[in-house]
Order: sequence, then C-alpha cells, then structure tokens
Amino acid sequence: MNPEMPADLLAHALAAKGFMPEDEGAFLHRIAHERLSHGPALEIGTYCGKSAIYLGAAAREIGGSVLTIDHHRGSEENQAGWEHHDASLVDDELGLMDTLPVFRRTVARAGLEDQVTAVVGRSTSVATWWRTPVSLLFIDGGHAEVHAQNDYSGFAHWVMAGGALVIHDVLERPEDGGQAPFHVWQRAVGSGCFESRETVGSMRALTRTRGDAGEPVG
Ligand code: SAH
Ligand code: MG
Repeated sequence: MNPEMPADLLAHALAAKGFMPEDEGAFLHRIAHERLSHGPALEIGTYCGKSAIYLGAAAREIGGSVLTIDHHRGSEENQAGWEHHDASLVDDELGLMDTLPVFRRTVARAGLEDQVTAVVGRSTSVATWWRTPVSLLFIDGGHAEVHAQNDYSGFAHWVMAGGALVIHDVLERPEDGGQAPFHVWQRAVGSGCFESRETVGSMRALTRTRGDAGEPVG
C-alpha cells in the first residue's frame, strides 16, 4: 500500500513555510496512513504546519487525530542572526518569534482544523502531564542535544506496541550537520524497544517491537 498525498493537500504542503522536502513528507503521510486507525499521531515541532499537513492528510482520508506540540518561539537556528531565521515570523511587540499565527492560517487554508490540534508549549512541560498512547510519534523539535534527548525521554514510551517512531534530520556524518537526531535514533535502536524500519532522506522510521504505551523504553 502506497497511498499518494491528495493533490489539493500536497499543493498546500508545498506552499507552506517549513522544513520538509516532498519525498520525506510523502513518507510521513504514508506512515500516518498506516497507523492512524490505532490512535492519534503526535508531532513535536510544528513550526508553520508544513509537516502537519502531510500528517493531517492521512487523518482526512482515514479518520483520526494529529496532535502537534510547539512553543512557537523557534529553535536556536530560527533566531535572529542564525541560518534559518525568517524575520517575517517575529512578533514585533514582544521581539520574539511567533509561528502560531502562520500555522493557524496554514491549517485553516488546508481545511484541516478538525484533524490537526495544536498543543502550544514547551515539550518538556507538555511531557509532564501527557498520558495518551500514540500510534505515531514524529520527533522534529529542537535539534540541540538536550532538546532532542528530552523529546525522546518525554514521549517515546507513549508509542503503542507496533507503533511508529519517526525521527527527522538524522545525519550520520558530522560534516552534514547536527548529530543530536542521529544520537536519538541510536538510543531508540539501542533500547531494544524499537527496530529500524525504513529511511527516506534524513527521515528514519522505527517500529515499537517491545513493550506497549506507558511502559518504559530506556
Ligand atoms: N515540522 C516542521 C519543522 C519544525 S522546526 C516543518 O514541517 O516545517 C522545529 C520546531 O521545534 C520550531 O518551530 C521550534 O519552535 C520547536 N521547538 C524547539 N524546541 C522546542 C521545545 N523544547 N518545545 C517545543 N517546541 C520546540
Ligand atoms: Mg526537521
């Protein structure tokens, strides 16, 4: 089974601001399509909603919910003076990044407001009260080692038996970029609870092969 992204939503995804190449987005969509009948999909790292459209497309097709966490203040590399800064995303009154308004417009235009629910806050704060098993966990939040590791520690154990853990920006060679997502992938494989399944670009998917949601993963 290799469901195509519906043409209307693919156009919205391609037009959205963000960091998700089309092949990786299509891969995310395919995994969500497989998993969403088992429970909600959880994304960490919403930004402007580009990847949420790929996930939300699967929810529109087969039902289910996509939950997406972000404090909407941007990662280190999104701040002024850094590589991925976009000055149009700054709240001038506060002098802080605010991607929430753009995310809301993106999801509304795509017609996915019933499928995609935003959780606005720091991932470590959300992790303190989170109790929901997820069929798919997509880690694409802060890429500093501490943030990437916190996202795994805070949420990986909520992946259901047979569920998917998907990690973005996994770069094996230091010369290609930050290593934190790769370290998280190594940690997941080393835990014995996840098995590596498929890779498209820098996106790696694993399956939970030991334990069930709420049980520790190491
Ligand atoms: N998935 C997005 C890209 C995410 S960029 C896309 O498809 O384009 C990473 C996002 O993670 C940024 O929006 C940043 O605000 C968020 N982020 C970084 N650290 C975070 C943290 N500790 N808690 C919540 N969000 C965080
Ligand atoms: Mg990414």
